[in-house]
Amino acid sequence: MTHPVLTALGLGASESGTWLGNGEWSRTSDAGVLEPVNPTTGEVLGRVQASSQADYELIVERAQAAFKVWRTTPAPRRGEAIRLCAEALRTHKDALGSLVALEMGKSKPEGDGEVQEMIDIGEFAVGLSRQLYGLTMHSERPGHRMYEQWHPIGLVGIISAFNFPVAVWAWNAFVAAVCGDISIWKPSGKTPLSAIASMKICNEALRKGGFPDIFFLFNDTDNALAERMVDDKRVALVSFTGSTRVGRIVGERVARRMGRSLLELGGNNAIIVDPSADLKLAIPAIVFGAVGTAGQRCTTTRRLFVHESIYGEVLAKLKAAYAQVEKKIGDPTDPANLMGPLNSQGAVDAYLDAIERAKAAGGTVESGGAALTDRKGFFVLPTLVTGLSNDAEVVQTETFAPILYVMKYSSLDEAIELQNAVPQGLSSSIFTTDLRNAEAFLSAAGSDCGIANVNIGTSGAEIGGAFGGEKETGGGRESGSDAWKAYMRRQTNTINYSDALPLAQGIKFDL
Ligand code: NAD
Repeated sequence: MTHPVLTALGLGASESGTWLGNGEWSRTSDAGVLEPVNPTTGEVLGRVQASSQADYELIVERAQAAFKVWRTTPAPRRGEAIRLCAEALRTHKDALGSLVALEMGKSKPEGDGEVQEMIDIGEFAVGLSRQLYGLTMHSERPGHRMYEQWHPIGLVGIISAFNFPVAVWAWNAFVAAVCGDISIWKPSGKTPLSAIASMKICNEALRKGGFPDIFFLFNDTDNALAERMVDDKRVALVSFTGSTRVGRIVGERVARRMGRSLLELGGNNAIIVDPSADLKLAIPAIVFGAVGTAGQRCTTTRRLFVHESIYGEVLAKLKAAYAQVEKKIGDPTDPANLMGPLNSQGAVDAYLDAIERAKAAGGTVESGGAALTDRKGFFVLPTLVTGLSNDAEVVQTETFAPILYVMKYSSLDEAIELQNAVPQGLSSSIFTTDLRNAEAFLSAAGSDCGIANVNIGTSGAEIGGAFGGEKETGGGRESGSDAWKAYMRRQTNTINYSDALPLAQGIKFDL
């Protein structure tokens, strides 16, 4: 590992893809090597030793031992540990943000923004550590008291996607930690360096603060160890962020062993633009939503429904905006650029394949539609496609690339029905200045997504709300609100302080 950003983060020969706890990075050197690539140049950024079966076993044993101590550590004290992690991340924000930008291929402000999200969820978790509230209930029996309490669940396995290589870990690990859990992270094989750097920063902060190991890390080259964790009964909760295809497998396997899973899967997010919409807001929101992070966000805008009365105007404005974006495609770490590369050649192939399928189904490419072969790296043009119906196979599918399908509608009911008529249910929004339309969109008969916005695009959620979606997006919720409950087990307690033994429902059982 020699890139200057890696040096700035103190990563060198001693770090590997496996954090075993006890101050040790594994020295395993025969379990394969990961070679993350800089998507801007196609060059290998570093070589990371993957973890062995023995490493995994040691991690789980140490995590189990750590849990016995951590589960009875007072929650506010657990919060202090996370406060130190957030503080350390603040110190290293610039360098870690640069590494995330470099390895994932997102812009420097987005890389920094991801680290900021880690800090924010850390601070949220600190407050949460004093608010893991249960309810009290009135018992139907005299002389009885009833309440519920929340206990730590145990080991939490976190499997994350390449596009948010560090924030998703923090969403899970920091909240799980204040809940009293120990987490084991398997990051994306495309972004192991960002994961190693995050672990190093947080584990050093914990060690300096006198806290035990609560975070572990392993990497694998073929997902065999990831699958082992999915099937491992010692791992109480598997939090999986990734594609619906893999999430379905993970969800089924965890369910088979009666474990718990938290699934954050693909989206197929839409924006509705009604006749009253303020286009000064709508156009930039659509463009940022569709081309930001080169269309590689789970909340990326993939479908656009425009009222027929303003369809021509909106399409013309979008085409003009896309022409501007085309001039600013390049190295995402250069602040002058608006769009960076896709993450891999595979993603470029999937983009080109989707465009061919769109054309074959009768679609018209209004803008873009090609890879940029005049340079290194994995660059493509942001693409607008018209003329397809919502039920076209390619429109129903999430292609993780900057392709926007633009469609016409004539009534709001129709637009809402179309927006809901996909297998996924993550993010949605409407641009309107009509109160009735806004409220109809947010009503029980409106958007069926986990996220529904008014006059804001589909991407870029804040940590304070619960994040996740319905249907094939998996139903999980992470981050703010009461998402912490997924990381704990609920226990109902009834205490009899009388000198009689009345049974519930008035049942008599006289001996
Ligand atoms: P992916 O499904 O290819 O991989 C996700 C993770 O699963 C990686 O760590 C991968 O190594 C691991 N994995 C692969 N096969 C596995 C198996 N058989 N068992 C266990 N783990 C396995 O997804 P990706 O390409 O990294 O990420 C893009 C996808 O993630 C998109 O579909 C996107 O919408 C989704 N995503 C969703 C959210 C959300 O919060 N809903 C957030 C980010 C990304």
